[in-house]
Amino acid sequence: MSAELILQEHEPLAPYTAWRIGGPARWFATATSPDELRRAWRWAQQHDQPLFVLGGGSNLLMSDAGWPGLVVRYRANAQHLTVAGDTALLQLGAGAPMAGTARKVAAQGWAGLEWAEGLPGTLGGAVYGNAGCYGGETAAVLAEATMLMPNGAVELWTPEQLAFGYRTSRLKQLHSSGQPLPLVLAGTLRLQRDDPQRLAARIAEIAAARKSRTPAGSSCGSVFKNPPGSTAGFLLDQAGLKGRRVGGAQVAAKHANYIINVGGATAADVLRLAEIMRSEVLRQLGVELELEVRVIGADATVSLQQHGQTL
Ligand SMILES: Cc1cc2nc3c(=O)[nH]c(=O)nc-3n(C[C@H](O)[C@H](O)[C@H](O)COP(=O)(O)OP(=O)(O)OC[C@H]3O[C@@H](n4cnc5c(N)ncnc54)[C@H](O)[C@@H]3O)c2cc1C
Repeated sequence: MSAELILQEHEPLAPYTAWRIGGPARWFATATSPDELRRAWRWAQQHDQPLFVLGGGSNLLMSDAGWPGLVVRYRANAQHLTVAGDTALLQLGAGAPMAGTARKVAAQGWAGLEWAEGLPGTLGGAVYGNAGCYGGETAAVLAEATMLMPNGAVELWTPEQLAFGYRTSRLKQLHSSGQPLPLVLAGTLRLQRDDPQRLAARIAEIAAARKSRTPAGSSCGSVFKNPPGSTAGFLLDQAGLKGRRVGGAQVAAKHANYIINVGGATAADVLRLAEIMRSEVLRQLGVELELEVRVIGADATVSLQQHGQTL
């Protein structure tokens, strides 16, 4: 790789994840532009190394064995705003932080991303899992995405091609089925002109709501998806799981759908606790919960798979 794209060996991945869990990457690099990500992709192809692209690390459980190939942390955050009257299109590198971008455009009088205030992670991760909260979701604002295809071609994808659903997309579905994954290089978001003061007030309201609901400590947000007609947090609370602990992993007292790393938690601890949570809700309440977070890496087979979960 070139001088600008520094390749590290045996880099511990825990510091790059919100849970602070995970073994080392055999190879590791940070790409700050689409071109750098393409070069990293080519290097992985040429050296026959499996590639994993990391955004903010806020919606994954990295295995204790780490990643056997190349992990690229994608940090491309170039922005370009094209204004047409009272609407605008924001072209954004997929490594850009969602929350920071939401605040930045709101301060300039552009509405559309306020819901993402406080949402950890990058645009790429938000597209992958159709991140959403406080009445908004990625699918509703994304006009198109620039994709690096598994054959090296660059394509523009529409939201229809991304096949968004509740906390899912075609990318997540391809990943689940073990197929080669297209990467998001950049995205274009639709914005509307609005009063900056009104937007600032809405953002402050969401920030306060998030602060009051989010448990302190290292977590990955919601562990399970909400089942139809209920919330996973409510069901887990009903099943008496708040405070349950395995090793360094504990169900938060404030929100039963959060697992906190209370100190030295391993991926195996989290998976064992998640399995207790899933099986207790099924046994006591008859509802099958589905994991929202993704288990990544060499020993990801130590998982809920034996119970029919899609990891
Ligand atoms: C405290 C807390 C609160 C949270 N609250 C919410 C919430 O309210 N709503 C919500 O939806 N989520 C929430 N989350 C989860 C998380 O913030 C989102 O899922 C976020 O969109 C993940 O983005 P990321 O960049 O961190 O992705 P990562 O965790 O880095 O990656 C997730 C997946 O996306 C893939 N990916 C990342 N970038 C790319 C790319 N450029 N191209 C292709 N694939 C890519 C990765 O390979 C991986 O498979 C919360 C998390 C935390 C820790």
